[in-house]
Amino acid sequence: MRTHVHALTDSIYGADVQLLVGAKPCLTSWLTRHGYPPDDEEASADGKTIELVHPTRGAVWIVWLPPDVALSTIAHECVHLAAEVLRDRDVVLTRDSEEAYAYYVSAMFEQMRAALHPTRRPSPRRRRRRRRRRDAA
Ligand SMILES: [Zn+2]
Repeated sequence: MRTHVHALTDSIYGADVQLLVGAKPCLTSWLTRHGYPPDDEEASADGKTIELVHPTRGAVWIVWLPPDVALSTIAHECVHLAAEVLRDRDVVLTRDSEEAYAYYVSAMFEQMRAALHPTRRPSPRRRRRRRRRRDAA
């Protein structure tokens, strides 16, 4: 199975977040291909979030998820990602910053969910056609 890489948009902190979707060994092979040491814990994990320091891009966060991932695992990795990115940006988790964490988790969760489980919404034209058919009945 091919590995798909999705660049996620972080318009708040401008973090470079890459979502890797692929079968289990894809994280290690991606790391090796990009000159990083392998991740030893990958074999036992259902998903993984790691922070890397790229020679030219600086900090890059890599989230690996298998294609058949459960929503709960996406949520789990989003919490790790939020903790790492906000810690990096000196946003300490307190009662006052809690909303920033929650907002970041939901923004990243939505992008990951969309990348992994694209909703098959009918196109506007098909929706119109379906409505017309229903009204005619
Ligand atoms: Zn974890």
